Amino acid sequence: MGRVGQLKDFSSLFDERILERAKGYRDAGMVTSVAQSADDGDLWHAWVAGTLGFYDVDIRIHRGMVISAACTCPYGQKHSYCKHVGAVLLTIVDRQGERDRRSSGDTLPDDASKAVRWYWHSQFPGGVSGDAVDVLDEQDWDAVRRVLESGLGMSDAGV
Ligand SMILES: [Zn+2]
Repeated sequence: MGRVGQLKDFSSLFDERILERAKGYRDAGMVTSVAQSADDGDLWHAWVAGTLGFYDVDIRIHRGMVISAACTCPYGQKHSYCKHVGAVLLTIVDRQGERDRRSSGDTLPDDASKAVRWYWHSQFPGGVSGDAVDVLDEQDWDAVRRVLESGLGMSDAGV
């Protein structure tokens, strides 16, 4: 995790309801592979698990200000600041806080996140990556959706 400057308050970019959902995603450990571009320190990328698959999130942060964001989810096609972007920003803030307290390490996933990861790992012992999206068929996603919706009370319907 490189230098980003302390991320400034970004809540005004988001609809209040979306930010609430973003916190749910962050708390459930749905944000994976948060990384700062090696070539362009302002550019961040992450994968966020959703009920329809992994979404590809790009965020540009300059001097602690969120400049722009993009997400591949349906909502993100029309609005820059969807819940997935919010979840990634909250995760970046968390990691900054953590970095201040100790030098390294990820937050432990909670139970719901473990359930999802258990499912993926049982299907893909080699690990979960963006490539897994292409491997999962409709039946697999139905199973993942059931895990998410029953375990987390989450649905992509509506937002
Ligand atoms: Zn999104």
